[in-house]
Amino acid sequence: MENCVFCQIIRGEKSADFIYQDESMVVFKDIRPHAPVHLLFVPRKHIRSVNDLAEEETPIVSKMILKAKEIAGEQELSESGYKLLFNVERGGGQVVFHLHMHLFGGW
Ligand code: AMP
Ligand code: ZN
Repeated sequence: MENCVFCQIIRGEKSADFIYQDESMVVFKDIRPHAPVHLLFVPRKHIRSVNDLAEEETPIVSKMILKAKEIAGEQELSESGYKLLFNVERGGGQVVFHLHMHLFGGW
Protein backbone atom coordinates (compact mmCIF):
# COMPACT_ATOMS: atom_id res chain seq x y z
CA MET A 1 0.00 0.00 0.00
CA GLU A 2 3.16 2.17 0.16
CA ASN A 3 2.95 3.24 -3.46
CA CYS A 4 -0.82 3.21 -3.81
CA VAL A 5 -1.91 6.71 -4.85
CA PHE A 6 -5.29 6.43 -3.10
CA CYS A 7 -3.66 5.19 0.14
CA GLN A 8 -1.33 8.22 -0.10
CA ILE A 9 -4.35 10.54 -0.47
CA ILE A 10 -6.08 8.81 2.49
CA ARG A 11 -2.93 9.16 4.64
CA GLY A 12 -2.72 12.86 3.70
CA GLU A 13 0.60 12.43 1.89
CA LYS A 14 -0.92 13.57 -1.39
CA SER A 15 -3.48 16.33 -1.82
CA ALA A 16 -6.98 15.87 -3.18
CA ASP A 17 -10.12 17.94 -3.44
CA PHE A 18 -12.18 16.18 -0.74
CA ILE A 19 -15.98 16.29 -0.80
CA TYR A 20 -16.62 13.97 2.15
CA GLN A 21 -14.73 11.79 4.65
CA ASP A 22 -15.77 9.40 7.40
CA GLU A 23 -14.28 6.46 9.28
CA SER A 24 -14.75 4.05 6.41
CA MET A 25 -14.47 6.06 3.18
CA VAL A 26 -13.33 9.24 1.47
CA VAL A 27 -14.85 11.05 -1.52
CA PHE A 28 -12.81 13.38 -3.70
CA LYS A 29 -12.88 14.94 -7.17
CA ASP A 30 -11.24 13.02 -10.00
CA ILE A 31 -8.09 14.83 -11.13
CA ARG A 32 -8.94 14.20 -14.83
CA PRO A 33 -12.73 14.61 -14.94
CA HIS A 34 -14.68 12.82 -17.66
CA ALA A 35 -17.94 14.64 -16.82
CA PRO A 36 -18.88 18.05 -15.35
CA VAL A 37 -19.14 16.25 -11.99
CA HIS A 38 -16.71 13.34 -11.59
CA LEU A 39 -16.19 12.06 -8.05
CA LEU A 40 -14.39 9.02 -6.64
CA PHE A 41 -15.76 7.03 -3.66
CA VAL A 42 -12.86 5.22 -2.02
CA PRO A 43 -12.86 2.91 1.03
CA ARG A 44 -10.08 3.69 3.53
CA LYS A 45 -9.21 0.01 3.53
CA HIS A 46 -6.90 -1.01 0.70
CA ILE A 47 -8.83 -3.57 -1.36
CA ARG A 48 -7.41 -4.11 -4.87
CA SER A 49 -10.65 -4.40 -6.86
CA VAL A 50 -14.17 -5.81 -6.82
CA ASN A 51 -12.51 -9.18 -7.50
CA ASP A 52 -10.91 -9.01 -4.06
CA LEU A 53 -14.02 -8.00 -2.10
CA ALA A 54 -14.75 -10.32 0.80
CA GLU A 55 -18.27 -10.98 2.01
CA GLU A 56 -17.64 -9.08 5.27
CA GLU A 57 -16.51 -6.03 3.25
CA THR A 58 -19.82 -5.64 1.39
CA PRO A 59 -21.27 -3.12 3.93
CA ILE A 60 -18.68 -0.57 2.79
CA VAL A 61 -19.87 -0.94 -0.81
CA SER A 62 -23.47 -0.29 0.28
CA LYS A 63 -22.27 2.78 2.18
CA MET A 64 -20.42 4.04 -0.89
CA ILE A 65 -23.57 3.71 -3.03
CA LEU A 66 -25.80 5.38 -0.42
CA LYS A 67 -23.31 8.21 0.03
CA ALA A 68 -23.23 8.67 -3.76
CA LYS A 69 -27.02 8.99 -3.73
CA GLU A 70 -26.80 11.56 -0.93
CA ILE A 71 -24.07 13.65 -2.59
CA ALA A 72 -25.89 13.43 -5.94
CA GLY A 73 -28.90 14.93 -4.16
CA GLU A 74 -26.80 17.73 -2.63
CA GLN A 75 -25.29 18.52 -6.03
CA GLU A 76 -28.75 18.49 -7.67
CA LEU A 77 -28.00 15.52 -9.88
CA SER A 78 -30.86 13.29 -8.70
CA GLU A 79 -33.32 14.37 -11.33
CA SER A 80 -30.95 14.81 -14.27
CA GLY A 81 -29.30 11.49 -13.41
CA TYR A 82 -25.80 10.15 -12.99
CA LYS A 83 -23.67 7.05 -13.51
CA LEU A 84 -21.93 4.92 -10.90
CA LEU A 85 -19.08 2.78 -12.19
CA PHE A 86 -16.53 0.27 -10.92
CA ASN A 87 -13.74 -0.54 -13.37
CA VAL A 88 -12.37 -4.00 -12.58
CA GLU A 89 -8.77 -4.91 -13.49
CA ARG A 90 -6.88 -3.77 -16.58
CA GLY A 91 -9.34 -5.16 -19.13
CA GLY A 92 -12.12 -3.31 -17.30
CA GLY A 93 -10.23 -0.02 -17.47
CA GLN A 94 -8.90 0.01 -13.90
CA VAL A 95 -5.62 1.91 -13.58
CA VAL A 96 -5.58 2.59 -9.82
CA PHE A 97 -5.62 -0.73 -7.99
CA HIS A 98 -7.42 0.45 -4.86
CA LEU A 99 -11.17 -0.19 -4.98
CA HIS A 100 -13.15 2.90 -5.99
CA MET A 101 -16.47 3.85 -7.51
CA HIS A 102 -16.81 6.67 -10.03
CA LEU A 103 -19.77 9.05 -10.03
CA PHE A 104 -20.31 10.88 -13.35
CA GLY A 105 -23.00 13.51 -13.81
CA GLY A 106 -23.92 17.12 -14.35
CA TRP A 107 -24.51 17.03 -18.09
P1 AMP B 1 -9.81 3.75 -12.80
O1 AMP B 1 -9.54 3.81 -14.28
O2 AMP B 1 -11.18 3.24 -12.48
O3 AMP B 1 -8.71 3.01 -12.05
O4 AMP B 1 -9.83 5.26 -12.32
C1 AMP B 1 -8.81 5.88 -11.60
C2 AMP B 1 -9.16 7.34 -11.58
O5 AMP B 1 -8.35 7.97 -10.62
C3 AMP B 1 -8.91 8.06 -12.92
O6 AMP B 1 -10.14 8.61 -13.38
C4 AMP B 1 -7.88 9.13 -12.56
O7 AMP B 1 -8.09 10.35 -13.24
C5 AMP B 1 -8.07 9.27 -11.05
N1 AMP B 1 -6.89 9.72 -10.33
C6 AMP B 1 -5.62 9.26 -10.43
N2 AMP B 1 -4.81 9.92 -9.58
C7 AMP B 1 -5.58 10.82 -8.93
C8 AMP B 1 -5.33 11.81 -7.93
N3 AMP B 1 -4.10 12.01 -7.44
N4 AMP B 1 -6.36 12.56 -7.50
C9 AMP B 1 -7.60 12.37 -8.01
N5 AMP B 1 -7.91 11.46 -8.94
C10 AMP B 1 -6.91 10.69 -9.40
ZN1 ZN C 1 -4.51 1.73 -1.53
